[in-house]
Amino acid sequence: MTTTPVNLAGPLLATYPPQPVTFVRGKGTELWDDAGNRYLDFLSGLAVTSLGHAHPEVAKAISEQATQLLHVSNLFGTEPGLEVATTLDRLVGGGGQVFFCNSGAEANEAAIKLARKWGGRDRYVVLTAEGSFHGRTLATLHATGQTNKHAGFEPLPDGFRHVPWNDLEALEAAITADVAAVLLESIQAEGGVRPAENQYLTGVESLCREKGILFMLDEVQTGLARTGEWFGFQHYGVSPDVVCMAKALGNGMPIGATWAKAEAGAAFRPGDHATTFGGQPLATAAARAVLEVMERDEAPLAAAAAGRRLRNGLEALPGIASVRGRGLLLAAELTEGSGPDVARAALDTGLVVNGVTPTALRLTPPLFVSDGEIDEAVEILKGVLS
Ligand SMILES: *Cc1c(COP(=O)(O)O)cnc(C)c1O
Repeated sequence: MTTTPVNLAGPLLATYPPQPVTFVRGKGTELWDDAGNRYLDFLSGLAVTSLGHAHPEVAKAISEQATQLLHVSNLFGTEPGLEVATTLDRLVGGGGQVFFCNSGAEANEAAIKLARKWGGRDRYVVLTAEGSFHGRTLATLHATGQTNKHAGFEPLPDGFRHVPWNDLEALEAAITADVAAVLLESIQAEGGVRPAENQYLTGVESLCREKGILFMLDEVQTGLARTGEWFGFQHYGVSPDVVCMAKALGNGMPIGATWAKAEAGAAFRPGDHATTFGGQPLATAAARAVLEVMERDEAPLAAAAAGRRLRNGLEALPGIASVRGRGLLLAAELTEGSGPDVARAALDTGLVVNGVTPTALRLTPPLFVSDGEIDEAVEILKGVLS
C-alpha cells in the first residue's frame, strides 16, 4: 500500500481543488459571495442554471411542489414526470420514451445498460471518442475517453473502446461484431468545447444504420437550448436512437433523463433498470417549469442571438486567438497564458468562467443573459487579458 499525505483541512474529501470563493446568493446572471462581492456568472454551474439563479417560476414550482408531494417511489405514478417526458419526447423529435434519473452520469449509465440489453450477450461494446466526457461512475468513467481520468481506478468495467474524435474511418474500422452502440457528444464540452464536424455526425448515423447498432448521443451539456437548438444534434439533421440529458433540465435541481426511440427502448422490461429518486415529483416539477419557460420564451433563439454577441465581443479582444463552440457553449483560445490562471484572475475581478483546457476559457452564461451583461463580461476579460 502506498502512503498518501493525510488532508484533514476541512470536513470534505479532497476531490475538488481548494475553493477560492463561497457563494451565498444569486439572481439571474449575478452571484454574491459571503463578503458581499458581486460577480457575473458566465459558467452557470457548468451549464446547469441556464435560466439564471433564483428563477421566480422555477422557485415557485419547487416550493409549491414541496408543499404537495416530494416522493412516493417509482412503484407509483406521479404527475409532473409524465408531462416532462411528453415534452422532452416532442423536443427530441418524437417517437420515443424517457427514463428519469438524477445526473448526467446516470443518464449515460442507463443508455449503456440499454445498449447491452438491446445488443445481447455477445454484442455489448460501446464505442466512444477520445477526449469525450461521460461521467465519473466506473462505467461512464471508462466511456470517458480521457485516460488521465482513468488512472488509479483500474480495472474499469469491460465493454468500452475509444476512437479518435471526428475520424469517421477510425470509427468504421472499430465497429466489430461485438459492438452494440456508439455514444458521442455533439460538442465535446469538458474535452475543450470541440464540435463534431458536420459530415462526422451524419456519417456516424449512416454507419450505425448500415451496421445495425445504436446511435446514442450524450447531450448532457449541449442539450436544452444551450447551443441554439433544443439539442446539439439538431444542428446536424441526424436522428439518434438514444439521447442523454441532465445539467440544465432542472436549472439546479438534480435531474437527468435518458430518451430512447421506441424500438431501442423496448429492450428494457419492468425490473431491468431502476432508481429510488429518479423522476420524483420535486425534480420533475422543477423540470416542468424549466421547459415551460424555455419554450414560452424561445430559449434556443435567445441562446443563438446572445452567443453571436458574446462570440463577436470575444473575437475582438487582444489576447484571444479564436473562439469555438455554438450558441452559448463557447471556448476562447488564449494567445498566451493559462486558461485556469486567467479564469482565476477573472474571478478576482468579478467574472465567473473556467479554464476548460490549459489554454482556453469556457463561457456558458445563462441563456437569457442580457446584452449589457455580455458587454460587461467582455470588458472584464479585456482588463484581465491586458
Ligand atoms: C457533466 C457531464 C456529464 C456528467 O454529468 P454528472 O451530472 O456530473 O454526472 C456527462 N456527460 C457530459 C457531456 C457532461 O457534460
